[in-house]
Amino acid sequence: MRKSYFKCGAEEFTFEVKPIGKVCALCKKEIPVVTLTTQNLKLCKNCFNHIQQKRVLEGIKTYRMFSAKDRLGIFLSGGKDSAVLAHLLKSLFPQQEILGIYLNLGIKYYSELAQQAVEELCKKIGLPLFIYNLCEKENFFIDDFIFTNFKDKICSVCGTIKRYLFSKIAKKLNLTVIATGHHLDDLISTYLTLFLSGDFLSIKRLSPVNPPLYSGQAKKIKPLYSIPEKEIFYYALLNDLPIESCACPHGEITPSKKTKKLLEELEKDNRTFKFQLLSIFLKKFIPLLKDLEEEKTLVPCLKCGEPTASYGICTFCRRVELLKRIESPKLEITPEEWEEIKRTGEVNNWVVFDVREEDDFLNGTLEGAKWLSTQLLEKEKELYKILRPFKRKKLLFICYTGRLSYLFTLKLRKANFEAYNLKNPDLAFKIGS
Ligand code: SF4
Ligand code: ZN
Repeated sequence: MRKSYFKCGAEEFTFEVKPIGKVCALCKKEIPVVTLTTQNLKLCKNCFNHIQQKRVLEGIKTYRMFSAKDRLGIFLSGGKDSAVLAHLLKSLFPQQEILGIYLNLGIKYYSELAQQAVEELCKKIGLPLFIYNLCEKENFFIDDFIFTNFKDKICSVCGTIKRYLFSKIAKKLNLTVIATGHHLDDLISTYLTLFLSGDFLSIKRLSPVNPPLYSGQAKKIKPLYSIPEKEIFYYALLNDLPIESCACPHGEITPSKKTKKLLEELEKDNRTFKFQLLSIFLKKFIPLLKDLEEEKTLVPCLKCGEPTASYGICTFCRRVELLKRIESPKLEITPEEWEEIKRTGEVNNWVVFDVREEDDFLNGTLEGAKWLSTQLLEKEKELYKILRPFKRKKLLFICYTGRLSYLFTLKLRKANFEAYNLKNPDLAFKIGS
C-alpha cells in the first residue's frame, strides 16, 4: 500500500507499506513493515504501535498531564497529528472522558473534506464528536479574510481565530484539559525559530504541559511531544486512520517550516539529533527561564467578554471587525492590474481562465479570459480534454480568493500543463517567465 499525504503548507509525504525484512527486531516473530527512524530498527506494526504508546504514556506520567477525573478535549483538524493523538489516547485510556472537536473554518474545498475525515475517524475509534461551524456560529469564513489587509497572512488570522475559539469551546464544553497533536519536529523547530529570534518567553510557554493562565481555562498538553513527525505519519497509515490528504489552499511556508527542513538535514548525520535537542531544551534551557515570566494581566474584552491581554477589544474581535468593512469581492487580479501587466510583459503565450461562478464571470472579468466550471475539478478527464488545445500555452487561473485557481493549478501541473495562479508561492505566476 502506497500513500501520499499533503501537509498544511502543501509539502508532500509518501510512504509505502511493504515487508522490509524477515523478522521484527523486537518480537522476532512478525514481518517488519516500518523502520523506527531514530534507531534504525525494523519493526512489525504491533511493536511499532507499542513503542509509540510507551512514549506517550511516559510523557503523560512525567508531566502529570491529566488524571482520571479530567475531561479531555482533542481539536481534530482532519490531519494526521490530531488523528494519531486521538487514537493513542483512546487506546491507552479507554475509560477516560475524551471528546473530539472539529472546528469547521469554512475553507472551501478543504474544510468539508477534513470534516468528513474527522467524522470517519471518530466513528472508527468510538470518540464522541462535537462540531463547531464557524459560519453558522460566528457568521464568517476564514476565506473572507482574503478581502482584507490580511490577504497574504491568512494563516496568522486563522491562528488567532482558532486559539480564541478553542478556549471558548473548551469552556462551553467544560473541558479541563485540551490535548494538541504537536510532535517532536513541531516542538524543536519552533524552539529553534524562537531561540533565533530571542523570544525566550514563548519558548518557556512551549512546554509539554501548560497550566491555565486564568481560572476556568483548560490546561494544555502535548502528549506527542517525543514522537518524530515521520513516525506519526507511519502510525496513521499503519493503523489505517482516516486522514485528509488535500492541502489547505492557504498553506504558507513559515520560518518554522524552513527550520524543520534544516533539522532534517542535520538528522542525516545524527539519528538522535532531534531527541538530543529536545532534551537540552526541556531539561537545561527551559529551567533557566524560570524567573522570566512577565505577569500579564488579563482583562475581559469590551466586546465579547473573553479574557484578553490587550486593553479594549481582543484580537479576535478586531479581526472580525475588519470583515464588516469588506464591500464587494474583487478578482484576485483586477482588470487594471492585468492591463498594466499586458503593457509591460510578454503575454502572447498566456491564456487566462476565470474559475469563478458563471454569473460572476459574466458580470465582468479580465479581457480575453475564458470561463471554466469549477465542477471540472472533480472531472479530470473532461478537464484535460478541454484544455488539451492549450497544452503549449501558459495557463493563468484566476478567481476571487485564490483557492480555486490554486486547486486548478495543482491538478493541471500534475498532468504536465504549465499552469499558474497568484496565491501559491511555489506555483506563483510570473509574467514573462
Ligand atoms: Fe492551516 Fe493556514 Fe489553512 Fe488555517 S489557513 S488551516 S493555519 S494552512
Ligand atoms: Zn473579544
